[in-house]
Amino acid sequence: MTPPITFDDPRIVQLRETARREIREHIEPYGAAWETAGTTPHAAYRALGAKGLLGLCHAETDGGSGLGPIASVVFAEEISASSYGGVAEAVLIHTDMSSTHIGHRGTEVQRRRYLPGILRGDLICGIAVSEPEAGSDLASMRTTARRDGRGWVIDGMKTYATNAVHGDVMIVAARTDMQAKATRGISLFIVERNTPGLEIRPMARKLGLHSSDIADMVFTGAQLPADALLGEENRGFHAILENFQNERLVLGAMAVGLARRALESTLTYVKSRKAFGGTLWDLQATRLRLAMLAARHKAVTALVRDTAVRAALGQDCVREVSMVKALAGETVQDVMRECLQLHGGAGYMADCPVERMTRDARILSIGGGATEVMLEEIAKRLNEEGFQ
Ligand SMILES: Cc1cc2nc3c(=O)[nH]c(=O)nc-3n(C[C@H](O)[C@H](O)[C@H](O)COP(=O)(O)OP(=O)(O)OC[C@H]3O[C@@H](n4cnc5c(N)ncnc54)[C@H](O)[C@@H]3O)c2cc1C
Repeated sequence: MTPPITFDDPRIVQLRETARREIREHIEPYGAAWETAGTTPHAAYRALGAKGLLGLCHAETDGGSGLGPIASVVFAEEISASSYGGVAEAVLIHTDMSSTHIGHRGTEVQRRRYLPGILRGDLICGIAVSEPEAGSDLASMRTTARRDGRGWVIDGMKTYATNAVHGDVMIVAARTDMQAKATRGISLFIVERNTPGLEIRPMARKLGLHSSDIADMVFTGAQLPADALLGEENRGFHAILENFQNERLVLGAMAVGLARRALESTLTYVKSRKAFGGTLWDLQATRLRLAMLAARHKAVTALVRDTAVRAALGQDCVREVSMVKALAGETVQDVMRECLQLHGGAGYMADCPVERMTRDARILSIGGGATEVMLEEIAKRLNEEGFQ
């Protein structure tokens, strides 16, 4: 058996260097323009794809690197440390939250049709699970898919679908068995952008993540071919829960990367900002606040990386992943609030990266499992397994 990969593995060390360099060259100079455009374009994906950065968690047989969750975490930290949370959100949804469904449960034909383009960055992928009345409570989703003579017909509405405006391929969840409990009657489908009967309605401007697009997807008798079904029929809920583990880990790493960049910027700023005959750094209150934030950031980083190692070993880490999502999602809020505060009025202005990161980070205690939902999951495990 090959030993499991670790964060010290030369391939992972090399990956971090490559990701940092590529993101500095191909993402950061354009991030502001993409914020204005409201989306991250194909060109960004292609630049990352050319360096193999879009297939880190995909199997080598599918053209990926097969480096698994540790590589995903490293990439998520680095792309988020670009300071453009919207780009990170768009790209990580593509790499770790949607295309993984095709990699894990697609047929040979589906994998061959979509994965090469997705890994090159020619096709942008997203996932549409949430509905206007089914967010945290996914089991109450109402969108339906029924077989007709030639394939499937979908009716209903999805909301908050990141990458739906400019994306090419969406993974869509729908009820396929109305009689069964929702958890046993949902299936996944691969939906291409020009599907007849599908209308993409861009949503209102959001608080942050301006460089990621978001839309409602309205299905009115939308017609899909028979081979659009992804994975086993009626096993979609299980697939969503399984994928949530990697998704939440990666969202934890996104919080780590954003917080790292905010802390670095703030340290530089307070050391240069003159006040009261010295700099802000000379004030003990400033130093102690940053020291505590640095300690909390390190603790969360350690939890994220430890959980990635457990995931790479194939261990059940639902409890740890829930802790990652809850703790990282909340800690990054505190980091941003304090970093903005230490920038004073400058932190409130739109040209300050900390202003953007504060808005971008706000989603991390809501999306992909709100903090309360994660805490419920941890409490459930504590009740069943005790404190370990
Ligand atoms: C910018 C953005 C991007 C997104 N991208 C996607 C995407 O690409 N694909 C997709 O499918 N979805 C996406 N979503 C949806 C996102 O995952 C949901 O918003 C999230 O799951 C919460 O669901 P909700 O908004 O319906 O909130 P609700 O479920 O209505 O919850 C509202 C609040 O109630 C509280 N709450 C909820 N449940 C509990 C509980 N059990 N116990 C205690 N308190 C609770 C929490 O504070 C929660 O924030 C996105 C959302 C946003 C804003």
